[in-house]
Amino acid sequence: MAKLKIGVIDLVSKGPTNTLWSKIMHANLASIMPQVVATWCEQEGHEVKMICYTGTEDLHKELPKDVHLVFISSFTQAALLAYALSNYFRSQGAVTVLGGPHARCYPDDAIKYFDYVLGFTHRSTIQEVLDNCTPQRPLGKHLAAKGQPAQLPGVKERWKFMEPTLKKAPFLKIVPMLGSVGCPYTCSFCIDSVVPYQPLEYEVIREDLHFLLTKFKKPWVVWHDPNFGVRFKDNMEAISSAAPPKSIQFIAESSLTILTEDHLKVMEQNGFEALLPGIESWYELGNKSRTAHLEGEEKVNRISQHVNMMFRYVPYVQTNFVLGLDSDVGDAPFELTKRFVDLTPAAFPGFSLLTAFGEAAPLNLEYQRAGRVLPFPFHFLNNHLAMNLKPKNYEWVDFYNKVIDLTAYTFSKKALYRRFMATPNFTSRWMNFMRAVSSEGYGRLRFYHKVRKNLIEDSAFRKYFEGETTLLPAFYRNIIQKDLGLWWQWLPQGALEHNPNAYLQKNQKLTA
Ligand code: SF4
Repeated sequence: MAKLKIGVIDLVSKGPTNTLWSKIMHANLASIMPQVVATWCEQEGHEVKMICYTGTEDLHKELPKDVHLVFISSFTQAALLAYALSNYFRSQGAVTVLGGPHARCYPDDAIKYFDYVLGFTHRSTIQEVLDNCTPQRPLGKHLAAKGQPAQLPGVKERWKFMEPTLKKAPFLKIVPMLGSVGCPYTCSFCIDSVVPYQPLEYEVIREDLHFLLTKFKKPWVVWHDPNFGVRFKDNMEAISSAAPPKSIQFIAESSLTILTEDHLKVMEQNGFEALLPGIESWYELGNKSRTAHLEGEEKVNRISQHVNMMFRYVPYVQTNFVLGLDSDVGDAPFELTKRFVDLTPAAFPGFSLLTAFGEAAPLNLEYQRAGRVLPFPFHFLNNHLAMNLKPKNYEWVDFYNKVIDLTAYTFSKKALYRRFMATPNFTSRWMNFMRAVSSEGYGRLRFYHKVRKNLIEDSAFRKYFEGETTLLPAFYRNIIQKDLGLWWQWLPQGALEHNPNAYLQKNQKLTA
């Protein structure tokens, strides 16, 4: 096979940004699979240039030049930038490939703009692309392995492609690692609920941790596992046998079921510094928080006690909530979350607006069947800029009133002060403060106010939210144009729209 010049682009950002959060943290949000793909391609004998776009660089200058093949990895919020880049590279004669969450959620849309769109990706999937590096038009090819790969190149093998991105992070440099894929739980809204749990090789984990100790005095590692610690004992043994206690600092997303006091004691000894359990709602989704039989105020009290207990062992806890779930009615869910903020002052609450990402989760079929999925452009599907599902029990203005009230409460001066005082160490205090005053706290609040104002004052805007028109309000179109900048002209015709019911229609065809 001829040696190919290959570009790999990891899109962390969907456009230029200069928020404090993006400057400090975007380089720490790089994905693992683009580094894996770059490693595999190089091991196959090709010449690879990889970039991670964090929104602070001049993208045009950084792009790989004169390439035969380009892999782009993107979450749905950066899909329009990915589509524009694909169009640009195709105009230069390159073959383009899309991978990452957007490719998994919206493959039928993405094949209109890429030569290849990848689902689960093994080394053999990449080899297939390399062996058939030719344009696929008018529609690209969707390639997907049956499941996640059983093993992936570790940090040591990926280092060459990871290091330049870490250099972009000014203070904290956080290395992404993976101990497992999939999840044994079955939360119907989650992309990992249908992916069987599978631990990766513990020997690779040990080797990688050893390796990191040669690169940093006290490394930071973030586990990208959907639910870290399912095989708790094995994971902890791998960590403790690789590194002296507390010589590496870890961040992980894990369900409360796993985060028992006994487990937390072990995690503290092994250097866990930040944990992100999902709470989601006070009225459902309790199957992973040991509170399936509880709801409402009782659940708030129980979970608050649990999270407060966690602070005896880890200095940073982010609690994740989903707003607008079908089980939520009236003021209660929002008021209960405010109560949780009061009772658990040190926790950082992360709020997501309920979003149905294409074929990500089985529940999305139900939403599409009920005609509730709205065609918001991909650019806004990041769990907070738009909610692409009509809420079941709220009308829009009332819903935004409640979201604004909860966000303002959570990031009020009083709450910030209480969080600051209750947070145990400097790094955690500083992180909470930065998140509150940057795009996440104040930034979202400003945006929600604008949406609410438009809902009240602009009837065409409101009609779009009600599903009575598919004509995209200028408010949203202008944001996309501004964010894409020079890439706006490369956005392929029709890319602003997508079929919000594609998953259901495909399913109906398959079962007909
Ligand atoms: S526990 Fe977490 S990762 Fe597992 S299915 Fe539920 S939401 Fe997804």
